[in-house]
Amino acid sequence: MSGAAAIGDGIFQIPVPITDNPLGHTMVYAMESPNGLILVDAGWGDDNGWQGLNAGLAEIGHSVTEVEGVVLTHFHPDHTGLCGRVREASGAWIAMHHDDHDMFEQMTARRTDEWMANQLDNIERAGAPSADLEALRADTAGEPPVGPESAPDRTLSDDERIALSGRTLRVVYTPGHTPGHVCFYLDDANVMFTGDHVLQKTTPHVGNFVYPLEERDHLADFLDSLRRVQAMDITRGLGAHGITIDDVGGRAGELIEHHEERLEHLLDEFTDQRLTVWEAAARMKWYKPWGDISPIGKSMALSEGAAHVRHLLAREQIAQIPGTEPALFARS
Ligand SMILES: [Zn+2]
Ligand SMILES: [Zn+2]
Repeated sequence: MSGAAAIGDGIFQIPVPITDNPLGHTMVYAMESPNGLILVDAGWGDDNGWQGLNAGLAEIGHSVTEVEGVVLTHFHPDHTGLCGRVREASGAWIAMHHDDHDMFEQMTARRTDEWMANQLDNIERAGAPSADLEALRADTAGEPPVGPESAPDRTLSDDERIALSGRTLRVVYTPGHTPGHVCFYLDDANVMFTGDHVLQKTTPHVGNFVYPLEERDHLADFLDSLRRVQAMDITRGLGAHGITIDDVGGRAGELIEHHEERLEHLLDEFTDQRLTVWEAAARMKWYKPWGDISPIGKSMALSEGAAHVRHLLAREQIAQIPGTEPALFARS
């Protein structure tokens, strides 16, 4: 048994396993469309995921050959990985918001030595100690998790409608977790597919490239997107990981609160001291003590720390001290 089931409102839920990942599964959703099935996300792209998707579709009385199109919430590999195989089996189109196209291309580009050296150089310039850089260098080799065969061939825009059988699915642009993240809203049932934007048990990652800090303030985007969803008064949220969200507005409010607390805590850390982005990240609260976090975990935490630093800069609560290398920040 794959665990796939009809969950009401004409929606099928198919848990697709993510190998060796604590998230466990990507929830893929299927709905009937004029020419077959529309899938929301596709799942992790290995044999294990492929078997899970096929078994799930069989359990609900369908087959991957019936897929008309895949609408993607965002570019991450646990959502896009199987797109290539689905398209090969069915001829389906694959659609993603245009702001995530570049991100997808960067992810699938071969990780050359030059690319890696540049990444490490940026992390060093954000203030990383040499021991952490060495650990990261040893830990980050390897092939990208998704290949160009999964590349989307259609672009989604905010408020666009996708035809289902007798109803439509509406694109709701919700950047933050990624620059082009979207949710999908079923008007007739007041149900939202929230992707990784709102999850019941998990706090979605929000990152910013660390050096130089990006112009785009991803945390501001995320908070705005949470407010957008909060204002919609949605009955049921179907996230890409974990359980159904009974109170989407309430959960969005909790996530806003969570980041406001983190911002406040981080601002306190700047009292009487000047910090690099690395030091700021190391002083934030994580799921375990900073020293126990793996090199990859630290690089994720660093990008999340950078997003918070970037947002405090936007709020003019801290400022960069001119002429410092690595860049130091202080309360303004
Ligand atoms: Zn994601
Ligand atoms: Zn995900």
